[in-house]
Amino acid sequence: MKLENKVCIVTGAASGIGKEIAMTYGREGGRIVIADLKRDAAQATADEIVKAGGTAMAVAMDVTSEEQVNAGVATVVKAYGGVDVLVSNAGIQIVHPIESFPFADWKKMLAIHLDGAFLTTRAVVPHMQKSGKGGSIIYMGSVHSKEASVLKSAYVTAKHGLIGLCKTVAKEGGPHRIRANVICPGFVRTPLVEKQIPEQAQELGISEDDVVKKVMLKDTVDGEFTTVQDVAEVALLFAGFGSNALTGQSLVVSHGWFMQ
Ligand code: NAD
Repeated sequence: MKLENKVCIVTGAASGIGKEIAMTYGREGGRIVIADLKRDAAQATADEIVKAGGTAMAVAMDVTSEEQVNAGVATVVKAYGGVDVLVSNAGIQIVHPIESFPFADWKKMLAIHLDGAFLTTRAVVPHMQKSGKGGSIIYMGSVHSKEASVLKSAYVTAKHGLIGLCKTVAKEGGPHRIRANVICPGFVRTPLVEKQIPEQAQELGISEDDVVKKVMLKDTVDGEFTTVQDVAEVALLFAGFGSNALTGQSLVVSHGWFMQ
């Protein structure tokens, strides 16, 4: 077991990538916190982990709310005694051409991706410092942390921003053995992506099939989607790694869409 008794908070873990990471961490012996806007779905994921023999709790949390993040982390510390791993994963997608991107949508995107990452990091770091054991902070970036695509100005800006936050947290955290890394997946067929296919077809005036083949997967080496399991494997590597040797990094998992 790579995460025995480690307290792991995963935001946005009621669905998609976050859920798979939570399930994987649960199988590796972690005590898992499903932190999500969707209270019932978060509880259902926690119940699934417990049913499979693991330990888990759900915390209703909007990651853009300072009060809810602080209260949620306080609840976790009271229940489990500390925090060892944070996966800042909650995210959404909103696509528009730049010239008609509503300011409210821009602000919402930056709030969820960047304020959420900042607020959750700031809430857990004191506990990782205090324990003397350090910890692992993992940000869910994207190939869009490295690359751009049309219609995604807010997403690309936010995902690039996470790399700056990660590097800073890695430097400040080093003396406390707090590591920070970014995972950069290619397209994964979750509800977030299912929603984008018809939206992009309409915005770009092409078929849904062409959105998948000619937009989403066009630059991969094999025309395949990345899977939630692929991403969870990398999240396990970052969470379980034993030293500061692996910090301040961003790892692309994208079927070769982006190569660095
Ligand atoms: P998803 O829609 O399946 O899950 C996202 C979860 O985040 C949902 O459970 C939702 O309730 C939660 N959430 C949304 N706003 C929240 C908020 N304010 N506070 C708390 N929880 C909130 O999406 P997914 O595809 O699993 O995406 C997860 C992360 O992975 C996102 O950061 C996304 O940008 C990133 N990502 C996804 C892909 C992909 O292709 N699916 C690729 C690269 C990166």
